[in-house]
Amino acid sequence: MSEKDTDIVRLRRQIDVLDGEIDALVARRDTIAADLIRHKDEPPYDPAREEQIAGRDEALWLPLLRRVRIAEGARHALTSQKPGAFPSGGFTLIAGPCAVDQHLEPNLEVVAQAGLSWVRGGAWKPRTFPWSFQGEGLPGLRRLRTSADRLGLKVVSEVLSEVDAPAAVELVDVVQVGARNAQNFALLKLLATLGKPVLLKRGAACTIEEWLGAAAYLDGRVPVSLCERGVRGFDPCFRNLLDLPGAVLARQLGAYQTLIDPSHGTGIAGLVAPMVLAARAAGLDGALVEVHVAPRESPSDGNQALAVEELRELVRALAPEPLGAAR
Ligand code: PEP
Ligand code: MN
Repeated sequence: MSEKDTDIVRLRRQIDVLDGEIDALVARRDTIAADLIRHKDEPPYDPAREEQIAGRDEALWLPLLRRVRIAEGARHALTSQKPGAFPSGGFTLIAGPCAVDQHLEPNLEVVAQAGLSWVRGGAWKPRTFPWSFQGEGLPGLRRLRTSADRLGLKVVSEVLSEVDAPAAVELVDVVQVGARNAQNFALLKLLATLGKPVLLKRGAACTIEEWLGAAAYLDGRVPVSLCERGVRGFDPCFRNLLDLPGAVLARQLGAYQTLIDPSHGTGIAGLVAPMVLAARAAGLDGALVEVHVAPRESPSDGNQALAVEELRELVRALAPEPLGAAR
């Protein structure tokens, strides 16, 4: 090896040692930050101090996150996880129609009959065009709650605006913040005070850092789970590009329960089940999928909805392997 090569190896080693030290410091800082959050679940806390911490995060934590964690952090196994919106330790499958519509009852029956505990369904629908179906609003959410209660199902549903949030949180078990609102900080700040667990979707153009930043508005105030639902890709085959590694990385970095939504994440019903199985294999915490008894009659997203039998098949595929099947 030439003298120059030896120098390069030596410098590389020095950088590796420093990276290790930085990594250990970041981990220590995280432990203290988590402790801090636990200590301040009751306001008032000191706003000036909060400002200071936020400033330091910007100067120290975020660049480190970019530099060290992206390179190294993904290799570290999570040692502890923040409290999420769903039961911990398992894989939660949430299914339901895109929207509350005229098929609400049979749609929910399908979910209950499949043996699931959580149903989804939008009462307010964020639509690209104003002439598309906008959802039934609060009366729809009331219908969803009533039907879900009758079947013993828990409800995840999206709230689009601050105006509707206080009434909506009374009717859901988990409130969903959709992709379009992922960085609606006014809504996030309000939800942080309303006491309901939040399922926070990733915005279609949110970086991991921005997504975690949005989650930080809720962190320590209400349980938060993240949901990767695809980002804007280049291939018109897909409605969105499901970022499975992004979901794994966000979970690793933020320690949030993390789910995927392969329905919106691909836009293709036939890809939903394989992506759910991939998410579980990757150690993620659950999935949110759309299902409809008559997909063609759904007022929104019919072509990405699972048919009834497809949902049943997916549930069967997720069931624990029979004893003895493991090698
Ligand atoms: C939804 O889940 O109903 C929805 C609109 O999803 P997203 O916000 O991810 O587009
Ligand atoms: Mn939908």
